[in-house]
Amino acid sequence: MSDFQQTETGDLPGIVVTGASGRMGQMLIRLILENGDCRLAGALERAGHDWIGRDIGEAMGGQPVGIMVSDDPVGVIARAQAVIDFTAPAATVAFAELTAQARAVHVIGTTGLAEDDLAKLAASARHAPIIRAGNMSLGVNLLVGLTRKVAAALGEEWDIEVVEAHHRMKVDAPSGTALMLGEAAAEGRGADLADLRIPAREGITGAREPGSIGFSAIRGGDVVGEHDVIFAGAGERLILRHVATDRAIFARGAIRAALWGQDKGPGEYDMADVLGLT
Ligand code: NAP
Repeated sequence: MSDFQQTETGDLPGIVVTGASGRMGQMLIRLILENGDCRLAGALERAGHDWIGRDIGEAMGGQPVGIMVSDDPVGVIARAQAVIDFTAPAATVAFAELTAQARAVHVIGTTGLAEDDLAKLAASARHAPIIRAGNMSLGVNLLVGLTRKVAAALGEEWDIEVVEAHHRMKVDAPSGTALMLGEAAAEGRGADLADLRIPAREGITGAREPGSIGFSAIRGGDVVGEHDVIFAGAGERLILRHVATDRAIFARGAIRAALWGQDKGPGEYDMADVLGLT
């Protein structure tokens, strides 16, 4: 895809994309430009990035679209109805404050947020809607619901392990999706993940604690994202699996969330709300 166009935009909701040069940023920009229900209102990158001041269509190797990449989030977000943000935790917390000030919808795909970051997002969500999910795909959000149900149906004698694989550039582990799945499994058992979670194992770990939930991460190549939830019992195993083959699924989910959020009040939402799975 090398041709980008944004022609008939009218009064459509304007979406700003942060981290415009990133893998998800570029995918989002392509899909917003193709989408007849919204328009691209801005493209942000950090100060000093060599795309600043360039037309985003040209920077991505296509035709000009009339939107210059900017390092001025205050000015750009002020003109938008939504911000879609797949960047890094520190940037996301700062964008949340600015987006809330503009009373725009903030869709957050960034993973690896710490408790402290989440507290700051909750403060921003008092002023405008924040929709955040460690995975924006329909399939994974269905898998979350299935995991909760299966964990509730099977007793503690079934050990739960979450195994995930991602591309070699991913910087955090476990993935946001693996944590969503672990949380759903813990909820199914009426517990908190924090009390059941076992991080990566190494060395003499001792036998497995009954009821605990283990996590393992594989990193390599260009794997978009694979997640298995394994329920291991005596003499049998049940494995729930999601395989992502195209990161467009996350971008489409994020755009859907930005449009869904247009008539919502302040508060924190997730993809289960957007997809009507709650
Ligand atoms: P990426 O290719 O590294 O892109 C990240 C972008 O964010 C880059 O353009 C980067 O700019 C920018 N950025 C980082 N720190 C910034 C800052 N402080 N200020 C402004 N911009 C900043 O990564 P990616 O694969 O697109 O993934 C981005 C995030 O989305 C990760 O947390 C990933 O786990 C998550 N993700 C979530 C989902 C989901 O469905 N929720 C799906 C896929 C990915 P520089 O290049 O200048 O650093």
